[in-house]
Amino acid sequence: MSRLPSRILLENAKALLSEEKGTVKKPWGRNTTVVLVYPNRYHVGMSNLGFQSIYQLFNNLPDTLCERSFLPEREEHWELIRSQSVLFSLESFHPFRDFHFIAFSLSFENDYVNILTILKLANIPLLSSERGDEYPIVIAGGVCAFLNPEPLAEFIDLFIIGEAEEVLPRLLSVYQHHREKTVNKEILLTHLAQIEGIYVPRFYQVHYDSSGKIKSFKSRGEVPSRIKRRSTRKLDPFPTHSSVITPHTEFSNMFLMEVSRGCSHRCNFCTIGCVYQPYRKRSLEKLKETAIIGLKQHLKIGLIGATLSDHPQITSLCSFIIKEGGKFSATSMRIDLFDEESIRQFKKSGAQTITLAPETGSERLRRVINKHLSDKQIFDTLEMIAYHRFRYLKLYFLIGLPTEEAEDIEQLIELTKKIKHHLVKSQPRSRYPETITLSINPFIPKPSTPFQWHPFEHITSLKNKLRKIQKSLNKERKIVVTWDLPKWGYLQCLLSRGDRRVGKILMAAHHLEGNFLKAYRQVDINPDFYTYRQRELDEIFPWDFIDHGVSKQSLIPIYKKALAMNEPTKE
Ligand code: SF4
Repeated sequence: MSRLPSRILLENAKALLSEEKGTVKKPWGRNTTVVLVYPNRYHVGMSNLGFQSIYQLFNNLPDTLCERSFLPEREEHWELIRSQSVLFSLESFHPFRDFHFIAFSLSFENDYVNILTILKLANIPLLSSERGDEYPIVIAGGVCAFLNPEPLAEFIDLFIIGEAEEVLPRLLSVYQHHREKTVNKEILLTHLAQIEGIYVPRFYQVHYDSSGKIKSFKSRGEVPSRIKRRSTRKLDPFPTHSSVITPHTEFSNMFLMEVSRGCSHRCNFCTIGCVYQPYRKRSLEKLKETAIIGLKQHLKIGLIGATLSDHPQITSLCSFIIKEGGKFSATSMRIDLFDEESIRQFKKSGAQTITLAPETGSERLRRVINKHLSDKQIFDTLEMIAYHRFRYLKLYFLIGLPTEEAEDIEQLIELTKKIKHHLVKSQPRSRYPETITLSINPFIPKPSTPFQWHPFEHITSLKNKLRKIQKSLNKERKIVVTWDLPKWGYLQCLLSRGDRRVGKILMAAHHLEGNFLKAYRQVDINPDFYTYRQRELDEIFPWDFIDHGVSKQSLIPIYKKALAMNEPTKE
């Protein structure tokens, strides 16, 4: 294999770089080198604020250089193979082998198979056990890593459990200290495994009972038996915003900035409310400082946070941006916290779309998921939306939730129709809204949430529910129904709830060019065991070794209470 990429690959990389603003190019010298990899295409990775902020964080550390790499585009993939080149970093075109660390940033489980593709294209052995001292240490972080890293345990040397701001500086300084004395990877990893928030799978052994459930999960040597998830106490010292601006992202001409982290609400299905605790917000003063960086570049400000409406000064921040002549868009606002002032600001800022997440059609099911939102609150918000004439309305719904019945699906359909009629009736001579888009996703019982014991709904049943919704709404003008295919929900569920053995399915899928259906048939592991099985309350989960600061026992009564809420909604 050639160390130098082919001319075509180099030209493509240079073309991307030429359109970027904010690329960091540091001299190699004696720096510790990291290639930060997003396991999807450039367009997807560069749209991810988490990925961008880690790039910035690494490069702000002393004696550290960080470059980026991505899953190549299809044509580049074949060009790498045709020209016998190895995958390389974007900034300096170095092959991965030249770096001290290969760091994957993980946001979506369904990208896991791309990790293997990337390692293969970089000519790096896929299995951690097959990478000797001459290879970089492969690390992974991001929300997937700290929910359940186990399906990737055979491929990754070290996981960062929690928020990177707390862990990366220590990781780098311990590494730099010990690297002076040894290149022995086992010794280096032993030192790194002592850091709070670092998980090195090779130092943990898992035993299974005859039914395939985990019997024990034990650490060996002197590493901690449980890993504490790290979280940053104060966000202000770490401004998190777009660091590289490029037109090749989903948010071109937009400057993304994090307003808050976590969520003070505890919806039973949602990982943000459970594992991003506690809810933290940035000060208005710091937010203004950050917004100015984007405004100076004449970029629209993209405000990021799980529930922006919870920030007590969000309207002051929005007014500030408008007063400075800027525009903004916002990720999400809770329906019950929308007010006239925030909607007015949205409109003033040129927003055309309002996104709401009723999650379900029935009030009963909203109580089950602990999202206490009444239909009245939805319609009160719609009054304001209608008054300000937004062109598009987007509604998020989940299906396959615990205790969901046919009646709940009927209510989802009815609610959607009522929403449309309500908006149309409120503005009889207006053409607004032009479209109401429903985005329907299957519910995934995620680790460390109160629903972690619950099974994923069968694919056939999800398909039937989707068909019913689609059939009932396809004659309704202005309504568009979109959904995630249940088979991808199934895969996400498998990869978020699996143990180490699921790595075999990933390996098989990698050899079958991503064909998971064939992979399921090829390996001696039943994926349904991880997805469709109702878990026992005392079962050991693959992710139990992660300490989120909330005991597993405390989630059991919440789960039981939710299941008990099965009385039908009274009209
Ligand atoms: S669904 Fe929204 S409001 Fe509920 S916990 Fe998650 S982020 Fe918070």
